[in-house]
This record gives sequence, C-alpha cells and structure tokens, in this order.
Amino acid sequence: PRRKIVAGNWKMNKTVPEALALVRELRGMVSVLRDKVEIVLAPPFVALHPVAKAIEDSNLKLAAQNCHWEASGAFTGEVSAPMLKELGCSYVILGHSERRQFFGETDETVNKRAQAVLKAGLLPILCVGETLAEREAGRTLEVVERQVKGGLAGFGAGDVAQFVLAYEPVWAIGTGRTATTAQAQEVHAAIRAQLGRLYDGGTAEQVRIQYGGSVKPDNAAELLGQKDVDGALVGGASLKAGDFAAIVKAG
Ligand code: 13P
Repeated sequence: PRRKIVAGNWKMNKTVPEALALVRELRGMVSVLRDKVEIVLAPPFVALHPVAKAIEDSNLKLAAQNCHWEASGAFTGEVSAPMLKELGCSYVILGHSERRQFFGETDETVNKRAQAVLKAGLLPILCVGETLAEREAGRTLEVVERQVKGGLAGFGAGDVAQFVLAYEPVWAIGTGRTATTAQAQEVHAAIRAQLGRLYDGGTAEQVRIQYGGSVKPDNAAELLGQKDVDGALVGGASLKAGDFAAIVKAG
C-alpha cells in the first residue's frame, strides 16, 4: 500500500518569522499523527533554512518549490538541487502550473530539473494538470499524459518509482472550485494506467499521485478516500495550521 503524502505549498507567502510561527503551531497539531501520513512543508527559498532547523526533531519533511537543473554556475537568481539537499530538503516541487504559466516552464525544462533533483538525492514532486479551456475541449487526459510523459522522459522504472506526481487542474487552483472526486479519480487512474504502459505494473502501483486544487478540510477526506488519490498538494489551506492539520488528519 502507498503511504499518503500531504504537502503544503506555501507559494510566495510567509516571511521567516511568520514561517516559524506557523511551524510552531503545526508541530503541536500533527505530532500525534506520526507515521501514518508523510507531511511535507514547502516554504519560500528564504525560509527553508530556518524551517529546516525548526523541524529537525519532528516528523515533518521539507520541500523547495523549484530548482535549477545545473549544480552551480553563472545563473543569477537561481538555486540548485545540491544546495537544497544540503539545507535539509527531501523534496522539490517541479512544473507547478504557476511556473508553467508565468515563468515559461516546459515539459523539457521540468524534465531537466527532475534529473538534477534525483542526482542530488532529492525526490521530485512533478505537477501536471489541464487548463479550463483544455478540459472544456475534452483534452484533459491528452494534456496530462503529455506532461507526465515529457516530465519523466529518459528515466527508467527505478527512478520513476521515486517520483511523487501531483495532479493539479489549473482551473481548481486558488479558485475554490475543487475537482469532483470522480474527476480527480478519473485522471489519477489514467495516469497510473499510463505509468503501467510506459514502465510496468509494479512501478505504476508504487508511484504516489497527489491531488491539488482548492483542497480544504471539508473536502479532503472524500478526495483522499479515492483509490488512486495518494495525498494532497495544498496551497491556500496550508497557510493556516488548523486547516492544514485537518487535511493531514483526513489522510
Ligand atoms: P490551492 O490549494 O490554493 O488551490 O493551491 C493548490 C496548489 O497550487 C498547490 O500546489
């Protein structure tokens, strides 16, 4: 059985003092849960180090929200995977729709970043998802499958088994408009079937697929109860300790 994974993507929110206050509050709330659900926090880059210190002796894990594909060099403004590993990160979110929409991220650059992430001993959380126009044109599975295939290009089954995938329909992000459980399950099952075709059944069964897009305490249990939904990637609701803890508890 796949262990559920709930991650809080804080996006560009929380100063360092605010981040530390949130972690302090969260630690008390989720410490009772221990190992049932893997809990991951993804603060902005500048808060990674302080948050790493603050969660050192806890069951919380750390993720970055992006990284560059080179290990070092003349890439002003960028951060590399080995730097994140050294800070105490376990995961890196890659290909989030906001990065694809606003920062020119493509399947090809996502794939390059994923190679750097695994090489550094980190695990990728690879995000995929269709826009509203694509869904309304009946192209959801085509788009998602293209993103999965492109993001995973060149990796063997052993590497792919280490990925976490996140299905985040763009129209559900920050809109309060959650995918129905049936819509989520349909896409998650399609991705798993695709992994079976591209790799093998064992790999497909191993890969965890999170759902993201307006996950809240009141819809988390139903979403996380779906057969192929192995966790949640939470934006807005991860900024409040009580809401995030409630979603973790639903896992
Ligand atoms: P919201 O939970 O705010 O809709 O954001 C989802 C998301 O983009 C997580 O990566």
